[in-house]
Amino acid sequence: MISISDGKDIHFRKAKFDPKICPPNCKRPCENVCPTFAISEYGVSKNKCYGCGRCITSCPLNLISEYEYQLSQDSLKDILLKIKPDAVEIHTEINRKDAFQKISKIIKDADVKLKKISVSCGLAQSNAQPKDLAKAFWERYEILSEHNVQLIWQLDGRPMSGDIASTTAKAAVKLWERMQPILPPGLIQLAGGTNGNTYKFLSKDKIPDGIAFGSVARKLVQPLIEETFKTNQKIYENPDKMAQAIEKAKTLLNPWKS
Ligand code: SF4
Ligand code: SF4
Repeated sequence: MISISDGKDIHFRKAKFDPKICPPNCKRPCENVCPTFAISEYGVSKNKCYGCGRCITSCPLNLISEYEYQLSQDSLKDILLKIKPDAVEIHTEINRKDAFQKISKIIKDADVKLKKISVSCGLAQSNAQPKDLAKAFWERYEILSEHNVQLIWQLDGRPMSGDIASTTAKAAVKLWERMQPILPPGLIQLAGGTNGNTYKFLSKDKIPDGIAFGSVARKLVQPLIEETFKTNQKIYENPDKMAQAIEKAKTLLNPWKS
């Protein structure tokens, strides 16, 4: 699966600051708060930062800013043809129907054989109501009908926060309870704040089709990512480390199995 966005999106941002202007006696809360060890005396490592934003609010001098880290839509078709993913996740926002339509067309024109398309959207970044979100999902349902693939509606509760506390999934679960009866046909997945404790907020007879474990899974496998970084590799280039990472991530599934 590859993730793309039809516009500005916090999932595709990076943090930056100029370490030369930091006071030498700063206790470096930015470094302490970063879950991916992306911050050092040299600033932010672009490759390690995944845009969670925690460092931005941690700096007492407001020296950290964010920037969009996106490829241009012009290159999307080529990327799809090169990677040939079997699934695509599209991050969208309620009022971006036209931008979403453009992305859908690019995917259609690339003619890659997709098994699934996931649409990720939530309310956290807007003042919209569940009925507005449902309308947005229905619009995307119509747009995506030409693809004739399995659709997944991903409800983004509290983005990129699942590793912060056991209770961060509450927003996603609440959103799901309100949205589930009014969503278009397709699978429903919870995301944004979800973690190994999410099942505790759900009743046994009513569970979603899937859970995304983004931030919390990243935190689990981060030490292995760090180890491979030291050998100038990315984790997916090292089969042993990749296998270990998958085993670690699988532990998040244990509560669901039992
Ligand atoms: S705290 Fe988050 S936004 Fe800041 S550098 Fe680390 S990963 Fe990036
Ligand atoms: S918290 Fe702010 S001032 Fe301190 S090291 Fe980080 S960016 Fe620099």
